[in-house]
Amino acid sequence: MIKRIGLVVLALLLLLVFSPVKAESDISVLDSSVTMDFPYSLAFNLEVEGNADIVDARLHYQVDRMNYARVVSEGWAEFTPATRVETSWVWDMRKASLPPGAKVTYWWTIKDADGDEFQTSSAVVYFKDDRYQWQNLTDGEITIFWYEGDNSFASELMNACQEGLARLTQEFGAYLERPINIHVYASSQELQGAMIFPQEWTGGVAFTEFGIIAIGISPDSIGWGKEALVHELTHLVVHQLVFSPYGSLPVWLDEGLAMYNEGELSLQLRSRLEEAVSEGTLLSVRSLCSPFSADPEKAYLSYAESYSLVEYLLDNYNGDNMLDLLTLIKQGSTYDEALTEAYGFDIDGLDTRWRESLVTSPVIAVSQSPEPFASCHSERSEESHPASIAGLSTLTVSAGVR
Ligand SMILES: [Zn+2]
Repeated sequence: MIKRIGLVVLALLLLLVFSPVKAESDISVLDSSVTMDFPYSLAFNLEVEGNADIVDARLHYQVDRMNYARVVSEGWAEFTPATRVETSWVWDMRKASLPPGAKVTYWWTIKDADGDEFQTSSAVVYFKDDRYQWQNLTDGEITIFWYEGDNSFASELMNACQEGLARLTQEFGAYLERPINIHVYASSQELQGAMIFPQEWTGGVAFTEFGIIAIGISPDSIGWGKEALVHELTHLVVHQLVFSPYGSLPVWLDEGLAMYNEGELSLQLRSRLEEAVSEGTLLSVRSLCSPFSADPEKAYLSYAESYSLVEYLLDNYNGDNMLDLLTLIKQGSTYDEALTEAYGFDIDGLDTRWRESLVTSPVIAVSQSPEPFASCHSERSEESHPASIAGLSTLTVSAGVR
């Protein structure tokens, strides 16, 4: 009996050692790594060996962003079939760029000439701007990355963000649904160095679907920086709130909420608004549903009116009405339908009531320091919502002088 058991054990051992059954795959991955050349490219490298010629190596990758469905993209590495292959697939950011700090999950599928297939386990890479030594500070859903200025600089920015979030919750019950990462560069110039095709006016960018803000704030411009940051943060919160395949926000509402949450309207914009009221040159609310004019004078007025419209709605109605409006737009209602259901009047009705309110309680340019206000000059796209926070005053200067 003992002998027989011994034989069985031996046979099993022999089976294990000399098993004609192939292991899962004859393909072995010797190296899988990523080389980053921020902001230009991300190279996924692969070194692989097999008994038969390796004939196919495909990279699968998934970007961490808000999506309507799970999206996995693929890239084919090019190489000559051989039993040992060293290859890579390069993501050229000039074609489809990623914001700083974007998270990418990836894995490879490799095939050989025998039809064997091997899949690597998934790995994660962050598209970090490794030209700087980043420090980070997290509070709740917000993380600030920065490299110039001390801890109190980051804390002050964080406090402004948390207060901005609290105001949105208090005003109409909005809150962050996804974490947000903020990359604070030390200047607009350094921020622009993080972009492949920077606009001269770019002072900050909100990548709404990625939950990422990239902004240039030097420690000595923190007053402006806090407002600009709250402006962009508001865009992200509101975009998370209305994210759906059905609707997009009218520009006046998107920009108006962001400006309103920054704080008081600047003296400069208040005067511009007052002037348009007295001269009868206000732009219609309907026209402000579409992207604003590139003409700086009209853009000033568009921002001022957007602020004023949101102020009118929040001051004269409940926060619930605003939340309803946003929810209805998310669900695909037209702007007229959404306004009518949430407030009882459509775009033209809003236009009339708001104009009346400006006449009965005129906008008075209260005395305050003429700080440049933070604003977006946005090019709305499916990819992101790039938004300059250079402030229109800065914008005018840079657009006019350079
Ligand atoms: Zn904006």
